[in-house]
Amino acid sequence: MSATHAASRSQAAQRVTLVATYELGRQPFGLASPAAWLQGAGFQVTMVDLSREPFEPEAFNADLVAFHLPMHTATRLAVPVIRRVRALVPAARVCCYGLYALPNERMLRDLGVEDVLGGEFEQALLDVASGREPEAGSGPLPRLDFRVPLRAGLPPLARYATLQTPTGTRVVGYTEASRGCKHLCRHCPIVPVYGGRFRAIPRDVVLADIRSQVESGARHITFGDPDFFNGIGHAVSLVESVAAQFPGLTYDVTIKVEHLREHRRHLTLLRDTGCQFVVTAVESVDDAVLAKLAKGHTRAEFEAVVEECRDLGLPLAPTFIPFTPWATTSGYLELLRTIDALHLVEQVAPIQLTLRLLIQEGSRLLDLEGPALNARLGSFDERLLVYPWAHSDPDVDRLQQEAAAVVGRGLTASRSELFDELLALTADRLGVPTPHRISGRLDRAAVPYLNEPWYC
Ligand code: SF4
Repeated sequence: MSATHAASRSQAAQRVTLVATYELGRQPFGLASPAAWLQGAGFQVTMVDLSREPFEPEAFNADLVAFHLPMHTATRLAVPVIRRVRALVPAARVCCYGLYALPNERMLRDLGVEDVLGGEFEQALLDVASGREPEAGSGPLPRLDFRVPLRAGLPPLARYATLQTPTGTRVVGYTEASRGCKHLCRHCPIVPVYGGRFRAIPRDVVLADIRSQVESGARHITFGDPDFFNGIGHAVSLVESVAAQFPGLTYDVTIKVEHLREHRRHLTLLRDTGCQFVVTAVESVDDAVLAKLAKGHTRAEFEAVVEECRDLGLPLAPTFIPFTPWATTSGYLELLRTIDALHLVEQVAPIQLTLRLLIQEGSRLLDLEGPALNARLGSFDERLLVYPWAHSDPDVDRLQQEAAAVVGRGLTASRSELFDELLALTADRLGVPTPHRISGRLDRAAVPYLNEPWYC
């Protein structure tokens, strides 16, 4: 793109405000990383994390206001804030970036957002702030020269989710060693943006980011990579370096069942370098549903991974999407019985047992037509940012609503108590006796967990 065109695009910004609305209780990497690029280029950067700070109008007195949209909830929360900023600072240029920006581009532009950037956004954001068209030819997935995130100016780590362990509470930091994913699961929001590709963040950058968070009090790090084992060599050398440089620091990672199988010889290394738990997206224990989602694993493989990790002393934190168009009430009971039989009740956040499949703009689920989807699909809902769907059996939708109500009411109840309620509810719906629990009831803190539930 020519310099003339760049100059005519807009005025370069002086002051840039980066905004996060919700990042699962983590200090936002998606602000800290571009902040380093922008400040390095001489911009005056303000970071606002509205999940931890009130809306202060003066923070938005900027030439460019850029919203990080890494997930569905964050995007929904950002919509009213974008409207407010448009009214408050009409002269400011408004930009949205991150995983959910591009798929929701039409809706965002209707809100008055001028620039919509994809998953690898730092250079493009710098271009926008500089009044340049984001580099032509780089496509939505350029290879970036990553920089150490700038965290000064964000709320302190102690105000974010903490790790609860049998021996107490730990302040948690958050970083990413890679972005994107090399897999193509049909329901995954990463796929429309990354298309089966991922980008590794250099080890030195990741280690420097960890160091700055350790110096700010972090004693545990969440690696937010969509799949920590996408680049196995990168992952192995990184955790070895973390253990060598930060003795006593613990961490958690997300790894898919398929990779836990394929790379099982490295699981001991995770355990021995301080991994407290591995989040793994199981989604279903029904092989037919797993095939629909193109998850790349079977129920038997999940069960084998549970056994292997238990033998190793490496806790799993499985996640699920129990309510899909292919769910049945008896299938839900089977899921609960399987979780019980595998002694995982205390390792599954109750919200996971209520989740309903989201069909977002750009989702590969939209490729499934007619009978293959087994649901009535509505047109895109601009408020909910999903394609609404109704199960072909309304009883399954009612069960989901009742399960969500049970968990919503029981915010102070233990995982075990909520699980028992869901078991009784489902058995009652099927008109069968409530199955007896196989697994015992543990002290909740016996299994390490982050005290922020997962909303996606
Ligand atoms: S492995 Fe996980 S991150 Fe990768 S495409 Fe599948 S669901 Fe998405």
